[in-house]
Amino acid sequence: MRLRTACPAPPGTWTVELRPHPDGLALVCRQCPHTGRQVAAVSARSAALAHLARHARSDLRPPHLRTCQCRERGCRWHPRHRGCNGPIRLLLACEHGGRIWRLADTCTACAAATDRAAVVPDTALAPAPQPALPRRRRRPRGPDERTRVGDMLSYLAATLPADSPPSARLLALQCALRVDDTLHVRLPRGVLRSLRLDAPQPWRDLEQANWLRTVTPSASRGITARLLDAALLSQAPARPDRCRAADCALRMSRPSRTGAGGPLQQLTLTCLGAHTDPSGSGWGEPDRMARACGLSLEQLPALFDQLATAGLLAAWRGCPNAENLYWTL
Ligand SMILES: [Zn+2]
Ligand SMILES: [Zn+2]
Ligand SMILES: [Zn+2]
Repeated sequence: MRLRTACPAPPGTWTVELRPHPDGLALVCRQCPHTGRQVAAVSARSAALAHLARHARSDLRPPHLRTCQCRERGCRWHPRHRGCNGPIRLLLACEHGGRIWRLADTCTACAAATDRAAVVPDTALAPAPQPALPRRRRRPRGPDERTRVGDMLSYLAATLPADSPPSARLLALQCALRVDDTLHVRLPRGVLRSLRLDAPQPWRDLEQANWLRTVTPSASRGITARLLDAALLSQAPARPDRCRAADCALRMSRPSRTGAGGPLQQLTLTCLGAHTDPSGSGWGEPDRMARACGLSLEQLPALFDQLATAGLLAAWRGCPNAENLYWTL
């Protein structure tokens, strides 16, 4: 009889490797004995995320038992360190060009300092829900709409293929924010038209990336799809709040004013809007902004200039090598 001899996994962190295999890739989980099954290259990313999601869901501990796993390992996952701070969230990090995926309980400060990583949206540790009072309107839970949009954009920047076009990213954002508990999403034609995404190509791009499968013919009044690569999102509660964030993202992209600029301008405005305070001023790290828009750092200033010329951005300053970019909408 063979005994399972793997060490017990340290709680709160899981790592999956995609190793070269003669017929594609092999998925090896550092926490699971006897893994190493072969996966097709095209679905390797979603298989890795799905595997990590299963671990996270089987380890739902109460907030007071979750600790920053980054600090437990001496903060070796990021360069600069200013001390752990903020609520613990699930951080998805990608290393070695997508060969290693790590999911770990991480404090907000360590999460912000970790490169090529994104907080899994909606997993902020909210205080225990209060007993519902009769006849009171449901109060929004968790982060505000802009924060939700920003979190989702950075999550998509980490999980979508780097060459995903802006139209596919805009569509993925709407799908991820509107997805239901069964990972299905239905986008009415009206929403698609107002986003200027009423075309088959963005859906095809996301299908090719193995991120979703459409389940209704594209000629119907709305398109229904099942998300594949968003296994981690299925644990997100509070769908009404996410749907409101989806509407907020739609407004921020200002499709009526960016018509000629197209999806890239819409995506950039959404990204800027998610990091802008109600007074209209915002700031963000250049590399994160560029990744969320699917651009290189060098392309960012030209795009900001275009938005300023079109009157969509009042002012901006900074350079690609600066620590932060600042703007006024
Ligand atoms: Zn595993
Ligand atoms: Zn750390
Ligand atoms: Zn920390």
